[in-house]
Amino acid sequence: MPYSIVWFKRDLRVYDHAALYYAAQRGPVLCLYIVEPSLWAEPDAANQHYQFLLESLRDLYAELRRCGGQLQVVTGEIPIILDRLFKQAPFAALYAHEETGNGLTFRRDLAVARWCREHAVVWHEFAQFGVVRRLKNRNLWQKNWEAHVGCRCLPIPNLQSVQLPWHEPPPPTAEQLGLAQYTPNNRQHGGRRLGLSVLHSFLTDRSGQYRGGISSPLSAPTACSRLSPYLAYGCLSLREVVQATRQQIANLPLDGSRRKQGLNAFISRLYWHCHFIQKLESEPELEYFNLHRGYDGLRENDWNQIHFEALVAGRTGWPLVDACVAMLNDTGWLNFRMRAMLVSVAAYPLWLHWRPVGLWLAGQFLDYEPGIHWSQLQMQAGTTGINAARVYNPIKQAQDHDPQGHFVRRWLPAMRRVPDAWLFEPWLMTPDIQARCGVQVGMDIAEPLVDLAIATRQAKAKVHALRAQPDIKAAKATIVDKHASRKRPGSKRRSKAKESGQLELDFEF
Ligand SMILES: Cc1cc2nc3c(=O)[nH]c(=O)nc-3n(C[C@H](O)[C@H](O)[C@H](O)COP(=O)(O)OP(=O)(O)OC[C@H]3O[C@@H](n4cnc5c(N)ncnc54)[C@H](O)[C@@H]3O)c2cc1C
Repeated sequence: MPYSIVWFKRDLRVYDHAALYYAAQRGPVLCLYIVEPSLWAEPDAANQHYQFLLESLRDLYAELRRCGGQLQVVTGEIPIILDRLFKQAPFAALYAHEETGNGLTFRRDLAVARWCREHAVVWHEFAQFGVVRRLKNRNLWQKNWEAHVGCRCLPIPNLQSVQLPWHEPPPPTAEQLGLAQYTPNNRQHGGRRLGLSVLHSFLTDRSGQYRGGISSPLSAPTACSRLSPYLAYGCLSLREVVQATRQQIANLPLDGSRRKQGLNAFISRLYWHCHFIQKLESEPELEYFNLHRGYDGLRENDWNQIHFEALVAGRTGWPLVDACVAMLNDTGWLNFRMRAMLVSVAAYPLWLHWRPVGLWLAGQFLDYEPGIHWSQLQMQAGTTGINAARVYNPIKQAQDHDPQGHFVRRWLPAMRRVPDAWLFEPWLMTPDIQARCGVQVGMDIAEPLVDLAIATRQAKAKVHALRAQPDIKAAKATIVDKHASRKRPGSKRRSKAKESGQLELDFEF
């Protein structure tokens, strides 16, 4: 009997799953997840990603059982698995969601398309986000996003299940895949059940803190939705999250305006989710190269391993930066502002090229989503050519968002002994004061690697000098046409940044 394969990727759910729904309309389906060793050997892969994936697969397995299906988890490289399956039990069609992943998944999808053509297998691909394949420019992009999120969510289909024609051993361990041992102790766990419960607690309760709570690293862990890993692995569909949020806004009483503002701002971020992924979809090279190629050579040849190692070890000497690294190591998550600050510190005073910094952070962020990640890295490093330089001063950020030092003292125990007067610049304590409070700068807490003001000024001058060159300016229009946002839904504010094509990403309310 002819059957279809549904190839699950980062879309680990059965609800609102276009590939599964349409394959089921056609007849029996084999539900396949393929653990690809080559993908897990990539430098952006991490053990925590694999653990989250396995947890999500467990939920998916149970969900598929409930609707008559059976998840088959196979290990190997996709064309080889397809070949083996096709020889033993030929199939007529392959169903999957489009994926905007890293360079390897891009090349792998081209190979799968080739394989399908050669074997006369029809490959049906569906958009799972408001991201458009083969987009010409951004003029109608917002309309498309609205159309995507506004469609009816697809129901869970009843499945006629097909089994694998061979016995497959259990998936490999992280160790067998060669993944480093480290996983954050307090990371979020995978699966649709948990994703739905995080969504529920956000919509019904925590969204009340979104307004005003998302910038400080103290309030952000509960004020932010914390949905990012569930969206990145597709445990929840973007459309269902947007629709549930809109429904919640509609149900709020008239005096719920603070909550409404928070929920509307949250929807803008779901829009940005796709806006940024679209950049990588339209320009896969931005994972490796400067979006504006006129910036090539800006930092690449000045690599400073000592700066990089100090950053990774949380020993830059700026307490807020080092505390963020400690929190990231423990939780796999940081809020937007702290992520932007980390990259800004790396790119400006420490003058580090964004690519190795981005690879390190890709492994640290549980929610690593290549399209958002690499676009953001370049934006914060100032290499897109279209965004005004945004440089975050880690001392000012600490004064604004952790004025009492609760955050830095939580994550850097030695800071608990530093008197309030020296909280933001502990390296200025004299040896006498250090001795009195029992903290040695350079030992218990790091000494800044560079003079922040001087290093930042020099870095900005280099970027501005390049930016001012006529040929660099001239190349900007093409990038704006291809990548810049035209309008953000729900935004009434205009700003210089917006006019230059930059979204304001963590505006205060
Ligand atoms: C250098 C850098 C790297 C980043 N890398 C990632 C990444 O790999 N994966 C990722 O999901 N987000 C990334 N972000 C964006 C943002 O920081 C996270 O989405 C957010 O902190 C996740 O927490 P949340 O789900 O509670 O966010 P919320 O504020 O509740 O936002 C809800 C959702 O909207 C989307 N979103 C929020 N902010 C942004 C943004 N600025 N750009 C695009 N989409 C956004 C995410 O899908 C997020 O889950 C990055 C930001 C920076 C500055």
